[in-house]
Amino acid sequence: MTAPPLVPIVRPALGDEEVVASARVIRSGWITQGPEVAAFEAELAAAVGARHATAVANCTVALELALRALGVGTVPGRVDEVITVSHSFVATANAVVAAGGAPVFVDVCEDDLGMDPALLEAAITPNTRAILAVHQLGIPCRILDIASIARRHGLPVVEDAACAIGSEIEASPGQWQRVGRPHGDVACFSFHPRKVVTTGDGGMLSSNDAALDARFRLLRQHAMSISDVKRHAANEIVFEEYTEPAFNFRMTDLQAAVGRPQLARLAAIVAERRRLAEVYRAALELHPVLAPPHDPPLTRCNWQSYPTRLRPGAARSQRAVMQRFLDAGIATKRGVSNAHQEPAYRATHGHVRLPVSERLRDQCVLIPLFHGMRDEEQARVLEVLRALA
Ligand SMILES: *Cc1c(COP(=O)(O)O)cnc(C)c1O
Repeated sequence: MTAPPLVPIVRPALGDEEVVASARVIRSGWITQGPEVAAFEAELAAAVGARHATAVANCTVALELALRALGVGTVPGRVDEVITVSHSFVATANAVVAAGGAPVFVDVCEDDLGMDPALLEAAITPNTRAILAVHQLGIPCRILDIASIARRHGLPVVEDAACAIGSEIEASPGQWQRVGRPHGDVACFSFHPRKVVTTGDGGMLSSNDAALDARFRLLRQHAMSISDVKRHAANEIVFEEYTEPAFNFRMTDLQAAVGRPQLARLAAIVAERRRLAEVYRAALELHPVLAPPHDPPLTRCNWQSYPTRLRPGAARSQRAVMQRFLDAGIATKRGVSNAHQEPAYRATHGHVRLPVSERLRDQCVLIPLFHGMRDEEQARVLEVLRALA
């Protein structure tokens, strides 16, 4: 008897629409940043309710670009502190360093795994240049509170919305808004296969500020004074200029074409994920070992991941729970990591103590949840949950 196939933590759900879209681009003769990227940008801006969106190669460079455009790392020798969370994929901290900033880590809230606004004010110094808040695993953080504190101090806010496409915030009673509107100054999305919409790799910055968006467009393409699309379309000779040192952070048309049909299906994708999450919640409500994630009021998650928590005094360890799943052919992941506990940040931030972040890393277990998950796959996960009880 052969073992049943592994239930993965995620499986990209790409189909014929994406195949047809990428073939269209290959046949068109234009494969790098061009008309498909422009259409993907316009569709994403419309989908999240932002005025502008600019596509880039991935979310890490989106964050770097956002911070640079807001002034981080632009004055040689100046210390530019960026207040953020350690409790995130290490890309968040890495983007701050890449932009020339110094990450200052604050602890997170137990319920939404995001920056605790109560700790923000005390972390602000005369060197603070920006706040970088994360909607971790797609769970909206307390962005409205964070943005209001930042505004009081004249500081810009970047949202790391890498995981959060399709997640919503109740901005005022009955007023649901998608993450990316933006609720700070700029929101950054990822299209890595681990996220909810994927282009292989890819990223996007959404904002309401035309001047800021123009900076993103300039800096993503070597600060070239005239785009190659415009240059190719011109019926007279034009010479471009390069106005400042910048980057190549472009997305390709091949990638954008693959993202567009998924964006068009976003509401259905998120609905399917919420249905799967409800099944887990029902199974975990009274479970003795694992608790379902908090579902904070005023937010609706896209369930990019499903983070269960070991209950206090649970009879099994995180490692034992994960091993039990692995033995049944089911992939899991431990809680979100903390940059300050990784070797890369030990020398600079090893002394920092963030009790909630540290506890969460060691108490969370992510179990498989993805759109396209088959009922029999979720049934196998539920079987292990029953056996653990
Ligand atoms: C995935 C992720 C990133 C990085 O996104 P890439 O597109 O892979 O660069 C940044 N922040 C968070 C919170 C993420 O989950």
